[in-house]
Amino acid sequence: PLRRSLRLCSRCYTVHASLSYEAIQQQYRPEVPEYFNFARDVLDRWTEVEKEGKKPKNPALWWVDGAGEEVRWSFEELGVLSRKVANVLSDACGLQRRDRVILILPRVPEWWLVNVACMRTGTVLIPGTQQLTAKDILHRLQKSKAKCIITDDSVAPAVDSVGTECQSLKFKLLVSEGHREGWLSFKDLLKNASSDHHCVTTKCQDPMAIYFTSGTTGSPKMTEHSHSSYGIGLTASGRYWLDLTSSDIFWNTSDTGWAKSAWSSIFSSWIQGACVFVHKMPHFDPSIVFETLSRFPITVFCSPPTAYRMFVQHQLSSYTFRSLRHCVSAGEPINPEVMQEWKAQTGLDIHEGYGQTETVLICGNFKGMKIKPGSMGKPSPGYDVKIIDENGNILPPGKEGDIAIRVKPTRSLFLFTCYADDPEKTEATIRGDFYVTGDRGITDEEGYFWFVGRADDVINSAGYRIGPFEVESALVEHPAVVESAVVSSPDPIRGEVVKAFVVLTPDYASRDPDKVMKELQDHVKKVTAPYKYPRKMEFVQQLPKTISGKIRRNELRQKEWRKD
Ligand code: ATP
Ligand code: MG
Repeated sequence: PLRRSLRLCSRCYTVHASLSYEAIQQQYRPEVPEYFNFARDVLDRWTEVEKEGKKPKNPALWWVDGAGEEVRWSFEELGVLSRKVANVLSDACGLQRRDRVILILPRVPEWWLVNVACMRTGTVLIPGTQQLTAKDILHRLQKSKAKCIITDDSVAPAVDSVGTECQSLKFKLLVSEGHREGWLSFKDLLKNASSDHHCVTTKCQDPMAIYFTSGTTGSPKMTEHSHSSYGIGLTASGRYWLDLTSSDIFWNTSDTGWAKSAWSSIFSSWIQGACVFVHKMPHFDPSIVFETLSRFPITVFCSPPTAYRMFVQHQLSSYTFRSLRHCVSAGEPINPEVMQEWKAQTGLDIHEGYGQTETVLICGNFKGMKIKPGSMGKPSPGYDVKIIDENGNILPPGKEGDIAIRVKPTRSLFLFTCYADDPEKTEATIRGDFYVTGDRGITDEEGYFWFVGRADDVINSAGYRIGPFEVESALVEHPAVVESAVVSSPDPIRGEVVKAFVVLTPDYASRDPDKVMKELQDHVKKVTAPYKYPRKMEFVQQLPKTISGKIRRNELRQKEWRKD
């Protein structure tokens, strides 16, 4: 297995992809060996390449805190330190393979060490965001039956307030300069730990991690992944969508609590031997982003649409992004207007990607492909993606339906294994021969996929189906609009109508709201089919969002429907 994964990497030491879509499909033939462990088969392999002097001298991890602190680890240093942490987990905490470990840390280098250490020990990692409340933590501890929790001073009190109610929780590890009663000191243990550790042998399908979904539509779901799903399945994402090689320095801004962080800041980049750049950035601030892109030789950048919408409100022309050459976005649809504005100011396209916690990249605008703004691009090689109807039949181009991935006769190994401990929910995602994403879409004659909306967000007004994204994108084209959320609202005649919640730019916020509303309605009628215009509109200061920055349309929708 080791040699095979080496072949996977060595082809792309420094050669950027930039292939046609057909060439990508032909080239991409991932091998899935019986045994696979990302730490041993990919990271340790890069250490060898590094030692042989066969890769650029970039670190594996480059962390900055914005206040002058920096950490740069080579693959070898990452290996040594993560082996020490593996020994802490197995010796001090006595953790066995398949034991579950909850990890709640901000963007600090230890987060990456624990990720790799869990792979080395075969323990199952469950990352969580810093913003979890004591109640959330209790829920996660009880539901996951985690044996160990690793966190810092800011979250430890919340864990202590609920810890006694969690029978399975045996070890608490504190990542801190100080000490806390009832907690083991990560720092002390690490100092004394040996760096000799023998990576466990894991089968491809053994559980590796459980990621929580973003909770955009309800409670976050616990999504179990095997060693091979992200570990091998994200190769296409790293190589063709992010266009990474070992000479790249890649910065993805997402929070450590979400699968996106694993996707981009672990697997997609390290498969390619690229350097993972991290800015601690406790609060998201566009000016920190601009300064960081100006100061550091970051070549590839990823941020969610909500961030790009903020970026383009600023004057970017006063900055020069030193080495930036490729930008991507994922997590939500990105409005064509925002792409255009970003390009006008930076000269760079935004390559949109589409995927879920449950999957690897489903569709992408791969480097070298023609970009159609507003489209999610084409299916990622490795997945057979189709639009299907309610009976599981494949629909032709131009027909809206459910976005689905073929799982029969064989389920792709690059999909989640199950929703942890919830076979019914897992089973409910299957329809006929397909895994159903819960998103609605449409394909065009050239095979590009277009996102219509989450199945629950699509509006049905007087017999017309209206996807919120198209209306939101039309609104954001108008200079008055920073961003908007479009949902259905009850109407005595039409059943439901389109309602837009709109955040205005400061200039327009002080104008007569009735006039602004009329202007926006006329604008939408002009740029989309007139029946899609929002008959109702409300101006708001901000939109409800998940911690990861996704618009929670269902919250707005529920409020609308509760009123009547
Ligand atoms: P939950 O499942 O808990 O409601 P979530 O679906 O937002 O939350 P994630 O797995 O983080 O959790 O997000 C995947 C979803 O995000 C997709 O199913 C899709 O709805 C949306 N998404 C991701 N990328 C894109 C994109 N490029 N265009 C449109 N939608 C996207
Ligand atoms: Mg989801």
